[in-house]
Amino acid sequence: MSDSSELRHECGVFGVVGDPDAARLTYLGLHALQHRGQEGAGIVARSQRTLHEHRGLGLVHEVFDEGTLRGLSGEAAIGHVRYSTAGSNSLADVQPFLARWRHGQVAVCHNGTLTNAGLLREELEEKGAIFTRTSDTEVLLHLIAGSDQKTLVNRLVDALSRVEGAWCVLVLAGDKLIAARDPWGFRPLMLARRGDAWMVASETCAVDFVQGTVVREIEPGEVVILDQDGAQSLRPFPRKPRRACIFETIYFARPDSQVFGRDVYAARVRLGELLAARFPARADVVIPVPDSGTPAALGFAQASGLPYGMGLLRSHYVGRTFIEPTQRIRDFGVRLKLTPNRSVVAGKRVVVVDDSIVRGTTSQKLVRMLRGAGALEVHLRIASPPMTGPCFYGIDTPERNDLLAHRLDLPRIRQFLDADSVAYLEIDDVREAVGGEGSRYCDACFTGNYPVAPVSRREEAQLPLFEGEREP
Ligand code: SF4
Repeated sequence: MSDSSELRHECGVFGVVGDPDAARLTYLGLHALQHRGQEGAGIVARSQRTLHEHRGLGLVHEVFDEGTLRGLSGEAAIGHVRYSTAGSNSLADVQPFLARWRHGQVAVCHNGTLTNAGLLREELEEKGAIFTRTSDTEVLLHLIAGSDQKTLVNRLVDALSRVEGAWCVLVLAGDKLIAARDPWGFRPLMLARRGDAWMVASETCAVDFVQGTVVREIEPGEVVILDQDGAQSLRPFPRKPRRACIFETIYFARPDSQVFGRDVYAARVRLGELLAARFPARADVVIPVPDSGTPAALGFAQASGLPYGMGLLRSHYVGRTFIEPTQRIRDFGVRLKLTPNRSVVAGKRVVVVDDSIVRGTTSQKLVRMLRGAGALEVHLRIASPPMTGPCFYGIDTPERNDLLAHRLDLPRIRQFLDADSVAYLEIDDVREAVGGEGSRYCDACFTGNYPVAPVSRREEAQLPLFEGEREP
């Protein structure tokens, strides 16, 4: 995605129980999930019922070293990579959060966004709760601590039944690691094994990386309890229609992962094939916007019979400059991150395949760069529909008014981007490509069909009587 500096991955979680190198495995798992969050990383490990933590800002390999991992000995661990979809980018907000309460220690980390976190925070503050972090995960900690249920599992279920939105939660406390996924199933969460150990991970690529074996997806609304007795599964929440985030398959997940029962790479190639079938272009070469547009460009090239070329080169060495959330750095970053390859595009009619367009400013620069490198024509093909609305479920998107497709219709988008043609895939084609037996997806940022209305303030929460009445 050329706009990737404007649309961030959410977070990734990884957990292990029953391996003497739990923290090291978690470190490796988090490294494989680095694409889901680059602002901070943390691990809490359990050794003889005592929890130890290490958290830091930066990439996984920058946060941990040999010494910090030695300090995280023990047979169970949970970890988190973070991008600040909710909350600030400070060390205090790096997860897992480790707290001490009347029953001992508890550590919590979470992938997603609690759509009613603001309202719950207000209620808790009125009752005297003190918050030291901006992340909505702290709301969960308070709800767990404040529950009048008798066991940790029941307290967690009690807390989770009060939150709305998207959440994949890992909790480490006592002798248990508990993994829970929201009833809509917005974000992926896998259950896996490695020898006698149990693992949980946001994506299968992390399980593969530590040479584990995926057992199955943790189901929407499922709570899995892992301890010395093995794995126990509960379904304590009322069932909801499944709403897996369609953008995980289009862009967020790593292409070597399987999410929601579908091979991500194969789905992206199929998106490209469908693009070529629906919106062919008279051109000389197909090029991807790397890396996320690459499988779709391959699919487009294969289906159209046009040659495939690396017409844009991506620098992998720019580092964390790109996660600075400022407009100035963002614009600078686009020029540093992608450069045109003159030998592929000069004198050619070029099809550029990208997975999505967010604000459009970076796509506009790409078209300009390709023309500057000698491209005769530039035809943009986008492997998803026009993005017209923000995400409230764990993805950091710009405001609705900043989204290109919300502001402009297709002819004016083409004009704005200065492309010779622009075409987006339609939502039905995307649904076909991402497949997934019996699965149904959230596609709200394309269609406006929001499964859960966001609630941020008490007065807003009191307005509508029925879910769906509220315009998000
Ligand atoms: S709104 Fe878009 S990005 Fe957010 S969960 Fe739904 S499909 Fe995914």
